[in-house]
Amino acid sequence: MMEPILTIVVPCYNEEEVLPETMVKLQQQLEELIADSLVSKQSKLLFVDDGSKDRTWELIYKEGLRNKYVRGLKLARNVGHQNALVAGLHAAKDFSDCVISIDADLQDDIQAIREFVIKFNEGSEIVYGVRKGRETDTFFKRSTAQGFYKMMRKLGVDLVYNHADFRLMSKRALHELERFKEVNLFLRGIVPLLGFRTDVVYYDRLERQAGETKYPLKKMLAFAFDGITSFSVSPIRFVLVIGIVSFLMSLFFGGYFLALKFLGNTETGWTSMITSIWLIGGLQLISIGLIGEYIGKIYKETKQRPKYIVDIDTLNLPIPRRHLLNTTNDEELYPVNLK
Ligand code: UDP
Ligand code: MG
Repeated sequence: MMEPILTIVVPCYNEEEVLPETMVKLQQQLEELIADSLVSKQSKLLFVDDGSKDRTWELIYKEGLRNKYVRGLKLARNVGHQNALVAGLHAAKDFSDCVISIDADLQDDIQAIREFVIKFNEGSEIVYGVRKGRETDTFFKRSTAQGFYKMMRKLGVDLVYNHADFRLMSKRALHELERFKEVNLFLRGIVPLLGFRTDVVYYDRLERQAGETKYPLKKMLAFAFDGITSFSVSPIRFVLVIGIVSFLMSLFFGGYFLALKFLGNTETGWTSMITSIWLIGGLQLISIGLIGEYIGKIYKETKQRPKYIVDIDTLNLPIPRRHLLNTTNDEELYPVNLK
């Protein structure tokens, strides 16, 4: 059997602190796999710079010059984790038989990569990395994340529990993934829809090796909200239910207040009036806002704007001009911006 070509895709946003270590560790892992004939010698590490503001791209680019395993992709601006990942998967698929995506911070156990590949060689097209527990997370992150999975399940979205974006996909699966043209791409929800033969690898999630999380609370909430609204219309249905309930309540209270009036007791108006105005007004605004959210999604989808723009792909750079420049300075070798 020919060994499969593996590409490990790593989205990076302001990861200068952790990247040097990540590069070394991933390369070690890759070399071990090559030595054990599990993957081909042509396997690669693909680092996607998602419009970082620090030295991330410089690190990737320079490593790409001297290291045959490293390929760098520089996106023209920050497009977020999911889109950066898509950019990497897309760029990798033509040159690989299988692709593994992993975060730059080494929170996901790179030992699992070997098991991913073994399962792939046994015939699985998609392999999910599933974390055993969440001991290393803060209580807050753990409970919000678990709440998120539970809610998604309730809303009818089939997610792999405790699986983030650490997974292997075959070339075939990636080709099919590309046919999902949606702009609001929520990978964790879409990959299970592919329906190929899948498997799971369990691993322990570690602490972030260096640097800060790139998912502050605000981004986390936005991510969860996006995930829900791009997969389920249950929230709109819920609004409908609230509307019906409040309509029925208004009938009831209408009758109640009419009865009071005929019994000669007309002084009760003000409080009930104010409360219902605020209640109904609030419900209406929430409903309109929620429906607006879906319309916004439709709006984005109809425009079909590209999810990312590639600025530089080190694979497509001209042959090094070291002999022309007679320099040891990497930056002078290629006419590319390092910022
Ligand atoms: N990331 C990215 N673009 C962004 C934010 C994050 O490419 O706009 C990358 C980041 O560099 C990391 C991965 O996405 O490799 C996951 O981010 P992080 O580890 O900060 O998230 P957490 O593990 O805290 O949820
Ligand atoms: Mg992380």
